[in-house]
Amino acid sequence: MDLVKLANALIPDENVKPLSYYEEKYPERTLEKGAQVTRLAPSPTGFMHLGNLYVALANERIAHQNNGVFFLRIEDTDEKRKVEGAVEVIHSSLKYFGVAFDEGADLCGEYGPYYQRQRAEIYHAYAKELIMKGLAYPCFCGENELEEIRNYQTENKLLPGYYGEFAKCRNLTEEEIYENLKAGKPYVIRLKSQGDVEKKHAFHDEIKGDITVTENNQDVVILKSDGIPTYHFAHAIDDHFMRTTLVLRGEEWLSSLPIHIELFNALGFKLPKYAHNCSIQKIDGETRRKLSKRKDPEASLTFYREQGYLPEAVRTYMMTLLNSNFEEWLLKFPDKPLDEFKYSINKMGKSGALFDILKLNDISKTVMAKLTEKQAFDFFKAWAEEYGTDEQKGYFENEEYTLKALALCMGIGGKKRRKDFVCAKQATEMISYFYDDGFAPTYEYRFESAVVKKILEQFKSVYSYADDCSAWFEKVKQVASANGFATDMKAYKQNPENYPGNVSDVAEMLRIATTGLANTPDLWTIMQILGEERTLARLQTAIEKL
Ligand code: GLU
Repeated sequence: MDLVKLANALIPDENVKPLSYYEEKYPERTLEKGAQVTRLAPSPTGFMHLGNLYVALANERIAHQNNGVFFLRIEDTDEKRKVEGAVEVIHSSLKYFGVAFDEGADLCGEYGPYYQRQRAEIYHAYAKELIMKGLAYPCFCGENELEEIRNYQTENKLLPGYYGEFAKCRNLTEEEIYENLKAGKPYVIRLKSQGDVEKKHAFHDEIKGDITVTENNQDVVILKSDGIPTYHFAHAIDDHFMRTTLVLRGEEWLSSLPIHIELFNALGFKLPKYAHNCSIQKIDGETRRKLSKRKDPEASLTFYREQGYLPEAVRTYMMTLLNSNFEEWLLKFPDKPLDEFKYSINKMGKSGALFDILKLNDISKTVMAKLTEKQAFDFFKAWAEEYGTDEQKGYFENEEYTLKALALCMGIGGKKRRKDFVCAKQATEMISYFYDDGFAPTYEYRFESAVVKKILEQFKSVYSYADDCSAWFEKVKQVASANGFATDMKAYKQNPENYPGNVSDVAEMLRIATTGLANTPDLWTIMQILGEERTLARLQTAIEKL
């Protein structure tokens, strides 16, 4: 068969450039010793999974800690999955978590275009080359024929796919091919696999270690009928010409590795290093399963922004999942910038990391406790503007007032910083009682209404805004005593049955009346922040409700 003629008929010369053009246009990168070129290659589906951040962080760290390059390539070959604005979502969500690319889609860079749909010419040039070498061919099989093959293979318990004797179009004669072309039959271009599934090779995966890879024997599609490449073909071409040195990607691609190895070989390209990363898992009842886009809201990166997690908290937590020695480092250097941690691919888990939101929350509390009240204010305000209710937006209009509330709730100026805040949403809910719009008490007292009412009335009549903390507490004690409540805790502990309760029960009633909550930071300070008028009004309303 005249392969040059066939290649020209399928892909005319005027549509492509000589191969040397591409090699020159995308030269080897000049890199320092040890520097790696890594990439994130998401499909623009509009959904960013926590796994995307996980892989992005690993790639970013590996590239940046050794003066390498980290770029973004958009794998938009599947038109059906494409969503408008998705690239913006990729950039903005990763930027939020502090992951920055050096080059790539919507950024500058010498190795673009970084959208696969804009790279048709280069894929065609190499598909043509493979056809000329007899390593690729047109396949005219339609859905029906492929289904017939599939059914036969299932019935006879054979390996599925288009290979060997089932690869019908492998053996079409020249005449048959041209007849089909003349008849305008749609076709795809398939790799003419030279592999043998009986042959196995040792392979070193940077995460999984030494593994065995079986040769590919599938005549996989490399160009679809619309001329768009498949992931496999585009991956080989792009990672060669973008000069990627390490492909760190999800382990769902491990099964395709034999295809990729064959494609790189057929194209005459040097194979990059590969690292297949396990998916993030979670415990669901008795089982351990993959974090699922459908079932788990926390699988989406949007979740962390909607909840208002500090980017640094999420990043810190992700690092604990990514490198087994990170936590030890963090304990030693709690205040160092995260990027000073020496990231190592060898310390990535061979089995799936377990996602635990309670641990993330713990880390978040610690990271939150490093903020000043002003930093917390700015972060919560920005969160409220984007995700908060109208009432919550209003909390941040009076900066001076809210700073005081935050300082108290964060334990700033106290003996020890409080670690109550997890994320902006929860923190904003926690401070809501400071605002008339957010104060919605249910008044759940542990004592009889008549007792509570009397105590609230008595306290209200003696309360003075001018009292300092100890004068204020004396008054609480006075009211407690007047109602038979113990003020001497030692005496109370010895004979609790002699009292209806003690002074802290009285303080709790006042707390519920003025904040709606049984537990809050220091009540005297809360009343100072609320102000005299609001404190008295709240006491009055609480009395009226009894
Ligand atoms: N487009 C593929 C994905 O979104 C990328 C796989 C890779 O990193 O090579 O899963």
